[in-house]
Amino acid sequence: MNKPVLFDINWNACINCGACVAVCPQEEPFISPFDTIAIDRPCDIACMVCEMICPVTTITHRDAVPSDYPEGKVTEAFREGEKRQN
Ligand code: SF4
Ligand code: SF4
Repeated sequence: MNKPVLFDINWNACINCGACVAVCPQEEPFISPFDTIAIDRPCDIACMVCEMICPVTTITHRDAVPSDYPEGKVTEAFREGEKRQN
């Protein structure tokens, strides 16, 4: 299991091709209002395929922190990632 990440997208560079959403294996919708992968919540799968496939390399990420999750909603994937790091 990978460590959860939070994505950022440079909207000036995004060409809205939809590739990041098309390859994403998330079961629940994981989409931003601009039809890219979501950037407002952590991805617990963190396969990084979206970042790799973006033709204009405009997706970046950082490790998720507890405050990235809605209050009290830190996931098991996040806790597992923390344990592995320590
Ligand atoms: S890392 Fe994988 S699961 Fe997460 S948003 Fe990107 S493609 Fe989807
Ligand atoms: S793959 Fe890159 S360019 Fe295409 S919609 Fe996603 S962020 Fe935008």
